[in-house]
Amino acid sequence: MSKVKYYYDSETLSYKKIERRKRKTLKYVSLFILASALFAFLFVFLASQFVQSPKERALARELQHMELQYQLLNKKMDEAQSVLANVEERDNSIYRLYFEANPIPEEQRKAGFGGVNRYKDLEGFDNSKIIVETNKRMDILQKQIVVQSKSLDEIAILAADKEKFLASIPAIQPISNEDMTRIASGYGYRTDPFTKVKKFHYGMDFTAPRGTPVYATGDGTVVRADNASSGYGNHIRIDHGYGYVSLYGHLYKYNVRVNQKVKRGDLIGFVGSTGRSQGPHIHYEIFKDDERINPMNFYYGHLSAEEYSILLERASLENQSLD
Ligand SMILES: [Zn+2]
Repeated sequence: MSKVKYYYDSETLSYKKIERRKRKTLKYVSLFILASALFAFLFVFLASQFVQSPKERALARELQHMELQYQLLNKKMDEAQSVLANVEERDNSIYRLYFEANPIPEEQRKAGFGGVNRYKDLEGFDNSKIIVETNKRMDILQKQIVVQSKSLDEIAILAADKEKFLASIPAIQPISNEDMTRIASGYGYRTDPFTKVKKFHYGMDFTAPRGTPVYATGDGTVVRADNASSGYGNHIRIDHGYGYVSLYGHLYKYNVRVNQKVKRGDLIGFVGSTGRSQGPHIHYEIFKDDERINPMNFYYGHLSAEEYSILLERASLENQSLD
């Protein structure tokens, strides 16, 4: 039983029972609970600002780890970037230059992606910056690789074509001429062996005994092997493509037929003195786009600088041609 309390009423001069009303008690209790709850909430809230829960600590560690990984990824991209820069440099200044293709401008190689913001989904987070930057770099790197790869494809085609071109053009002498003594007359004004008048000699004459082998000077197709062209006697013409044709005159015998494909160095015929000829020799001409040009400029295939200068000296003598 609870204690009953009294108080002295001075007006009525009597003791009266103190009666606490139940409603008031309920009000006090509610207030107390509310205040406690508020305190508890404040305490937890404040504490959470300074103290991390184990779960938060784990998440923070994970985030830190991820940031570190992003930094490492960027470092790896730096390395990839520098290797690619080196390849691009060689591509522009060696390969593309060698194959006469225009260098790819820097802006084209490093072009980003304009227009739509491709990184919108990645924005709005604490770590957005590093993620967006990394993605941007990766995208540009990827594009650079595509540009470089296309450039190399182009060069591979040019190289294959260049190889064919180099094999095709007439680049050696038509007969074996190791000691450079077989040159009789060069391209230019020479005395005609028959009329003794100065006349333009459109080819080079190489003296050699009858039956000496004559070789194709570049890859191509035999387009003529006959004596129907005035003055040349038995002669062969090889079409090398790219506008080049070589002609071998005054042959004794043929070793090829029309339409036959030949490679540089193939035996195509033998030295003779057929047609308008003063003695056994081969008259050799090169046509470029139907114009006869000086064969002297084409013997880079197998001559040393010294041999070339001997040949040039002999070919430049304004002597009498053998025609
Ligand atoms: Zn000649």
